[in-house]
Amino acid sequence: MSFGGALNEDDDILTNRAAVSERRMQRGQETRHHEMTILWPHVVLAVTIHLFALYGAKLFITDAKPLTIVWSCLLHVLSVWGLAIGAHRLWSHRSFKAKLPLRIFLTFCNTIGFQFPIFYWAKIHRLHHKFPETDADHANVKRGFFFAHVGWLLCKQHPDVKRLGYSIDMSDLLSDPCVSFQKKHFLKLGIALCFVMPTVVPILWGESLFTAFFTAAVCRFVFTLQIQFCLTSIAHYVGDRPYDGAISAAQTSLLNLLTLGEGQHNFHHVFPWDYKASEYSYYLTNLNTAFIDAMAALGAAYDLKTTSAAAMKARVLRSGDGSHHVWGWRHQDAVAEERVELNKLACEAH
Ligand SMILES: [Zn+2]
Ligand SMILES: [Zn+2]
Repeated sequence: MSFGGALNEDDDILTNRAAVSERRMQRGQETRHHEMTILWPHVVLAVTIHLFALYGAKLFITDAKPLTIVWSCLLHVLSVWGLAIGAHRLWSHRSFKAKLPLRIFLTFCNTIGFQFPIFYWAKIHRLHHKFPETDADHANVKRGFFFAHVGWLLCKQHPDVKRLGYSIDMSDLLSDPCVSFQKKHFLKLGIALCFVMPTVVPILWGESLFTAFFTAAVCRFVFTLQIQFCLTSIAHYVGDRPYDGAISAAQTSLLNLLTLGEGQHNFHHVFPWDYKASEYSYYLTNLNTAFIDAMAALGAAYDLKTTSAAAMKARVLRSGDGSHHVWGWRHQDAVAEERVELNKLACEAH
């Protein structure tokens, strides 16, 4: 199964600036807007929980005990692992394989995050990669920043998401007992692990239930949610595009810090099978990769897929925006000449 719709589509396209602009225009024309139906119950729920989260943020500063703050940070890290390593790198992209104990742990972490069941999360994420910047992309960035960030949750889905969703092969996830179990009991498990457990545990160090609920449960949940939202909004707006200058996905270093390594979004959309979701192996900015490497050392993760330097260089020279720190041509004449030669060869081959 291919998870890189954009990648395959891009393979035949030359990469001079004119071609890049042309592709942008073509993608713009692919987007057909339908009449938007706002889901008011979703809007009320979203506003309410964000107001609760703001109150929780205030309590973090004025009331929360230091251990409650540490506990909330730990829950954020576990949630991100469940989403980024579990739902994203493992279940959406199959960038590595995991043995059952690790899959159980990642399902547990994912449920603390309590966004969507892994199955549905992976399905819309595969659509996001296969039909990026079209109506089949649930968070289509062509519909504006707010829509890409959170608006997609507040209105009726475009029919293309459902229609083309049927074309996505999800049989691998259906056969995973962890994914099936979580899907079946998602609401009960989510309430228990995302709200009850975070509220009850801080009692151990004398925290009040009230403060624990608004800080470690609600505020932490909304914070993780907002960070995830940034991956379909900010990560598709701001930053360099060293691997493909024609797609919206960009390298957003700040998000690396908050998502523990998911901010190299241009790289990720071009090489979605790479378990590091990045060209680089710096653990400091990619704690998610450090975790997978640690699991691989313990034998719990295996078949880690990576991208060769040759493949990266070829792609950078062919379709990047010139910003790559080694193979970018913005300020390097030698690289620019090499790129011109490669493009000439590509033209001759066609
Ligand atoms: Zn994306
Ligand atoms: Zn992805």
